[in-house]
Amino acid sequence: MKYCPQCQSTQIIKSGILNDRQRYKCKSCGYNFTVNKLGKQIDKYYVTKALQLYLEGLTYREIERIIGVSHVSVMNWVRKYNIHKVQNTDYHPTYKILSQSELASYFSKPENTKGAGMIVTELGDKYMVIKWERFKE
Ligand SMILES: [Zn+2]
Repeated sequence: MKYCPQCQSTQIIKSGILNDRQRYKCKSCGYNFTVNKLGKQIDKYYVTKALQLYLEGLTYREIERIIGVSHVSVMNWVRKYNIHKVQNTDYHPTYKILSQSELASYFSKPENTKGAGMIVTELGDKYMVIKWERFKE
């Protein structure tokens, strides 16, 4: 069953293919979105990325924005794989999506890495930097 990630309406129509993914348009709100076909390798890749981000403290809505899958799907995966994140209200990670060359220049500047923890993860043809600035006020 498919629904609009924006308004949860099931009134959706197919509107072409984008990057090997079926594209849909919501008849209720006009939102365009793509959905991965189930059972393909790419889905497992995005499931893993989504759960990673969830564990790092990002919200369902943020994960939806970054990965492009509905926050309802992410919630279902969290339930299915029985993922429990550590409750931490002291800080919230920020993230950036960078190309390889942007990543290189980002790390070349000491002010970007000083006083922060971060992980870099591949995301499609780009990279995502998740950063914690725990000790900054
Ligand atoms: Zn909609």
